[in-house]
Amino acid sequence: MQNNHKPRILIIYTGGTIGMIENPETHSLQPFDFTHLIDNVPKVKKLDYEIENIQFNPPIDSSDMSPRHWVEIARHIDENYDKFDGFVVLHGTDTMSYTASALSFMLENLHKPVIITGSQLPIGEVRTDGEENLITALQIAAATDINGEPMVREVAILFEDYLWRGNRSTKMSADNFNAFKSNNYPSLAKIGLGIHFNEEALWRVQAKRPLNVQYGMDQAVMIIDLNPGITESILRHQLATPGVKGIVLKTYGAGNAPTETWFTEAIKDAINCGIVILNVTQCVNGGVHDRRYMSGNQLALTGVISGHDITSEAAITKMMYLFGLGLSTSEVRRYLKCSLCGEVTI
Ligand code: ASP
Repeated sequence: MQNNHKPRILIIYTGGTIGMIENPETHSLQPFDFTHLIDNVPKVKKLDYEIENIQFNPPIDSSDMSPRHWVEIARHIDENYDKFDGFVVLHGTDTMSYTASALSFMLENLHKPVIITGSQLPIGEVRTDGEENLITALQIAAATDINGEPMVREVAILFEDYLWRGNRSTKMSADNFNAFKSNNYPSLAKIGLGIHFNEEALWRVQAKRPLNVQYGMDQAVMIIDLNPGITESILRHQLATPGVKGIVLKTYGAGNAPTETWFTEAIKDAINCGIVILNVTQCVNGGVHDRRYMSGNQLALTGVISGHDITSEAAITKMMYLFGLGLSTSEVRRYLKCSLCGEVTI
């Protein structure tokens, strides 16, 4: 069905560099009021869209982002879902991939674009990347296919030249304008003179269902990153963290870990205590192939689940989401082995 109305977009401004200005006294960057943002991007008014905005009070640096903020973003989307064609979330780059991954799980049956963007330079600066990112994000949020359906029906990150699947993305650079990448999945769109969508890569489901937002994100999860020299005592202390239900174990290469008995026994003991452990590679590209080497195979035999090519951002937020649903350990294990919304290649 073709829509004849102007695209209606809701901007949710959470904070981050995009909306920051320099404190004249300390010269450090601090969040500013959202009105500053629009004042600095008069071009937004040239888009013939109906735009409304909501802002976090106060706007935050994304290093302060937490599940309660994800709940706040999700609630704004939930409450405004029918009123708008698309959503643009302005967010700091530091934890943008975590937020994108979390929202991809929380917003079940999403059929509209949720485009997250930010910038490396504040929008008030002459060479800012924020203006272009904001305008392009708005255009993507308004884009429709030949049937008038939203072109993007998932949570995605727009940054500089590319649109990435949110739960596949990682912040790759603290300096470059092209700061994000999804190392194991193609871009959803390439931004050049036009916006060139890669329709084969976009998330599509057979049946359109009503949006169902899951607000429970269980924080009883953690990441353990291996390093040569890790001792039994350090590992056992980490595994025995009080209350922890799920662990993302970041391993070497194709999912390998020390083969010494103390290591395998410590992991086995944790699994026997009901802790769910997901094996995710430390490599930025490629995934876990736990049958390739004896060391990976040994880990798989303890009951550690292969995370295949999932990012650690998607892995940890997927665990929060699954435990937040109140699922049993065996159900969590089962869903970790499946792709829920395109986050992993099985
Ligand atoms: N520290 C900032 C943040 O993540 C960096 C940025 O926005 O790029 O909020």
